[in-house]
Amino acid sequence: MSEHDSQMQLDTLTVHGGQHVCPQTGAVMPPVYLSSTYAQTAPGEHQGFEYSRSHNPTRYALERCIARLEGSALDQSQDVSFGGFAFSSGLAATATLLDTLKSGDHVIAMDDLYGGTHRLFRQVINPSRGIDFTFVDMTDLDAIEAAVTDRTRLLWVETPTNPMLKISDLQAIADRLRGRGILLACDNTFATPMLQRPLTMGFDVVMHSGTKYIGGHSDVVCGMLVTSDQAIAERIRFHQNAVGSVLGPFDSYLALRGAKTMALRMQRHCDSALRIAQLLEASDKVAQVIYPGLPSHPQADVARRQMCLGGTPAGGGMITATLETDLAGSRRFLEAVQVFALAESLGGVESLIEHPAIMTHASVPPEHRAALGIGDALVRLSVGIESPDDLCRDVERALAAV
Ligand SMILES: *Cc1c(COP(=O)(O)O)cnc(C)c1O
Repeated sequence: MSEHDSQMQLDTLTVHGGQHVCPQTGAVMPPVYLSSTYAQTAPGEHQGFEYSRSHNPTRYALERCIARLEGSALDQSQDVSFGGFAFSSGLAATATLLDTLKSGDHVIAMDDLYGGTHRLFRQVINPSRGIDFTFVDMTDLDAIEAAVTDRTRLLWVETPTNPMLKISDLQAIADRLRGRGILLACDNTFATPMLQRPLTMGFDVVMHSGTKYIGGHSDVVCGMLVTSDQAIAERIRFHQNAVGSVLGPFDSYLALRGAKTMALRMQRHCDSALRIAQLLEASDKVAQVIYPGLPSHPQADVARRQMCLGGTPAGGGMITATLETDLAGSRRFLEAVQVFALAESLGGVESLIEHPAIMTHASVPPEHRAALGIGDALVRLSVGIESPDDLCRDVERALAAV
């Protein structure tokens, strides 16, 4: 199997992208290179590998694979890595991209963001670096336009967002802002490259929390950046090495192993989530269901165009619902489940359920949460790959407890 074929489908790339059979041993899985350093034949003469923070073959294999999946135009065919970068967490990936900015620069960020990204921007980067942030609802193109200043250097969008599952139109944003010196970055964690590839829609950088669907088994924390632009890639590579928050070799192997089944897993996540979203929407115990695959989603049209799995519109594996109850009722809902686990995080094979206001989004200021609609009766479900019948029964059991 040669992985140089540019026509390969995504599900083939999840298995083979950026990888080749080891010429020495025939190993079909890239070995885990734990060595921190590499012998040189003469001072300064090495075989492309010097020190593992700078270069690691296992990390490179993961980086090439994700770069292929995201459709990076940079050549991923050789042993080195060009368009993809793996970090010790999603937040480390985000922080490293922000490291490429200068003090005085301005960033426009989505108003609904993963709680930790919000905290990183407001409580770390802003005070320590003198970088200003404006948070806007990017489902409104005019609101983005109104936020642009002559210091704006980065636009940071998340779509679908966490936890409100808002959908921004990536192609429309890129068409509006192209050529204005603003780096366009998209947190693609919820959609995964299986459903949406922002680089192919005019974005410059894609970020992932690989902890979620890429790893897929809730057993590794990692982050990714991908770009198609040579100059941006060189800047990220410099900062990745200079700052040093790289992904270790064993974690790189776990993420790469997880990525191999991503196409299959996403199909099941999407199919089961649609069924559960429909079940929730039909219940009189539920005030509102937000799911990108439902016609009732506020940006259903954009979702249908932008998020597809194998050519068919797909809504992803995440559902957010507002229950027709108070805090005590939503606690009963969360405690009645038997298959879903009450836990933070998402995107793993196991189904998880959580309360954003108390758990994942506790670090978002209460007034900001209220403005977004993250209230006491809001719950978030990450639908796993268990039997959809068992999952539906579990949700019915929880609804009965409300
Ligand atoms: C989890 C998550 C992150 C942060 O990633 P870590 O790997 O936990 O650092 C960023 N964005 C989204 C959408 C996430 O779900």
